[in-house]
Amino acid sequence: MVVAYNHAQRAKTSVYADALEQYNRAVNYLNIDDALIDFMRYPRREFTVNFPVRRDNGSVEMFTGYRVHHSTVLGPSKGGIRYSLAVDLDEVRALAMWMTWKCALVGLPYGGAKGGVVVDPKKMSQGELERLTRRYAAELIPLISPHADIPAPDMGTNGQTMAWFMDTYSMTVGYSVPAIVTGKPVIIGGSQGRVEATGRGTIVVMIEALKGRSWWKSIPGETRLIVQGFGNVGANAAEYAQTLGFKIVGVSDVSGGVYNPDGLDIHSLREYVDRNGTLEGSDFGESVSNEELLALPCDVLIPAAMEGQITRHNAHLVKAKMIVEGANGPTTPEADDILNDMGVFVVPDILANAGGVVVSYFEWVQDLQSFFWDTEEVFRQLQRKMAQSYYATESTADKHKVPMRIAAQILAIRRVADALKTRGFYP
Ligand code: GLU
Repeated sequence: MVVAYNHAQRAKTSVYADALEQYNRAVNYLNIDDALIDFMRYPRREFTVNFPVRRDNGSVEMFTGYRVHHSTVLGPSKGGIRYSLAVDLDEVRALAMWMTWKCALVGLPYGGAKGGVVVDPKKMSQGELERLTRRYAAELIPLISPHADIPAPDMGTNGQTMAWFMDTYSMTVGYSVPAIVTGKPVIIGGSQGRVEATGRGTIVVMIEALKGRSWWKSIPGETRLIVQGFGNVGANAAEYAQTLGFKIVGVSDVSGGVYNPDGLDIHSLREYVDRNGTLEGSDFGESVSNEELLALPCDVLIPAAMEGQITRHNAHLVKAKMIVEGANGPTTPEADDILNDMGVFVVPDILANAGGVVVSYFEWVQDLQSFFWDTEEVFRQLQRKMAQSYYATESTADKHKVPMRIAAQILAIRRVADALKTRGFYP
């Protein structure tokens, strides 16, 4: 079995180099000062922590974690925390930079950050994960606050992780601070709809993109989707798409995938994964590897696993007419060129997966005001923000005659540059 998101394989390339390459491509279209261009290339600060965690058997193990603030120009830095063995400073740096562009693109008053701990959360008990999270949160206290840096879930973390984070911070300062993190359970100040937000937002922009494609006949049931990754983003995207009548013909997780040209039942697949922890062994369709999944016939491919999946080695195998990036950085710049030549329409990550941070922003606003919205209101505002951002990006792409990724970056970088210029350099 070939696992496309193989940690060792990905670790050999620099994700930050890819993020910088995208940046370099976009700034070519912007008429801004070199000093501003240079400033935005660098992360503002990078924090590395090494800390002990007591395992259930009584032994103590050291772990390494990071938090990178790429930008605080538009507001407090915002971004998730990832638990994965592939975490390193290079990856966190890239993800932090992408958060800056993502927040700027969709018009949130935030800069960008990202954090991560080098750990396989599947190999930890709940007690071990709680001790690891609390200690990591304690190590980050000098950096985080509801007005400075607001973490959220990412790969390998979830609402429970955020609850431990919020509790650790609150215990330290002596009172409850729900706005310190987003993506919390609703009972402690989380927002309705936050869990579904990223996947749902991905489908919202996919639909806006489909409306502009001449090959799309406006019939969801005849539109075949393949989703790589069956975590929070992939599973929720697939489920929402299915509710709207789209046909999901393939899905995968880290163990491999399943393919059924007649369509998969996402509810049953989710139940299977809830029971077994992975898609492995499910007989809902033909078993395929992750590498094979990316090359199967479909109309829309949604990579929702991790970065560096569509590369110069496999981009030419893609059969989809459109790619909507649920994950951060799934397509390398070389692959972008190949896909572009092939005429594949790519809706870039900072647009396609922004639904998560959009609802994180709603959560933060609700926490600061102690006034909570119902699900309908959250989804209405999410839909509005995602559709607006889609059309702003599309018109920039048309104006500059560039792919959507460059257009999204142009819009985002221009906003950060305008704010930076207005604020000026200190001192
Ligand atoms: N981790 C998510 C992302 O990559 C959400 C970040 C947030 O909500 O702050 O966009």
